[in-house]
Amino acid sequence: MRKIITKRLNRICSLCKKPIHVLVYSKGYSGGHYFGKIPFFTKRALDEAVKAGSHESKILGRSFQVMNKSPIPYKFEEYWECPKCYWNK
Ligand SMILES: [Zn+2]
Repeated sequence: MRKIITKRLNRICSLCKKPIHVLVYSKGYSGGHYFGKIPFFTKRALDEAVKAGSHESKILGRSFQVMNKSPIPYKFEEYWECPKCYWNK
């Protein structure tokens, strides 16, 4: 069965800021790598969260530093990487 292109998206690579031309098919997409939406924080929200400190917490036998206060994101944005950045990691 041939792939049907349902949409063309123009996105910016989150790493190198180069434009990515994404082709969306009826099943899947190509041209870029999508990691989902990631939160963005203001510097103030981050500073407040850092000031509140963190504590150690054990999850599945491993120790993690968990922030006492989670910063509140002011926006969520799609995170894309172009194939070049994706494969050069
Ligand atoms: Zn890139």
